[in-house]
Amino acid sequence: MKYIIGNWKMNMTAGEIVNFSKALRKYKFPKHSDVMLGLAVPYVYLLGMSKMQSSMMMIGAQNVSNHDKGAYTGEISANMLADVGLDFCLVGHSERRAMFGETDEIVNQKLEKLQENELLPILCIGETLEQYDKGQTKAVLSAQLSKDLEGIDKSKQIIVAYEPVWAIGTGKSASADLIKETITFIKQELDKILGKREHIVLYGGSVNPANSAEILRNEIVDGALVGGASLDADRFIQIASSVF
Ligand code: PEP
Repeated sequence: MKYIIGNWKMNMTAGEIVNFSKALRKYKFPKHSDVMLGLAVPYVYLLGMSKMQSSMMMIGAQNVSNHDKGAYTGEISANMLADVGLDFCLVGHSERRAMFGETDEIVNQKLEKLQENELLPILCIGETLEQYDKGQTKAVLSAQLSKDLEGIDKSKQIIVAYEPVWAIGTGKSASADLIKETITFIKQELDKILGKREHIVLYGGSVNPANSAEILRNEIVDGALVGGASLDADRFIQIASSVF
């Protein structure tokens, strides 16, 4: 199974979403295709988009509060996301870490809240360009994983997305070889932290219809987290169909 998850970030209007959904509905995916689609949608459109949920389409949020309830103006709890029937939630995206002060401790708390509410967390990790240049990638990923996953319920499924910060929104994807090597490393780390089993690890960072087939061909890559190219239904479908 390959997961193709779009992250719309703070983009799209209601009208654009209607057109996107129409195009997606029209496209006939081959029966029994081994692909699971997902869209991480801005909060205000989540309820509307939940109509798109199906056995091959997950709808989720891009963020969640690390608190349960109460006086946290502007925040949305994991319980609320579960209450409206969502499937998943991104956590620890590099934009939230860099721009909104989201520390590993907060990421860990958010992960816990998602698990408590039976939502599938998609944990984003990745190194900056400076860390990459200094050869610190594995140390950075290892530290993020051990802090973000500390004390979580090992029996529950999580998805990890390897997203090198230098590849996000830059048009400069990591090479297929680097992705393979890094995801292999991440799976070994997950074996140590969560126990030996099948782990789901996606790649994210400038995935587009021109490079998706090469990236997704590798068995170790369980799918892609797609930002910019997920805003256009045709490009999103092209990426998904490069799986079969
Ligand atoms: C992302 O922000 O998760 C992402 C992968 O963005 P892009 O595909 O635009 O690089």
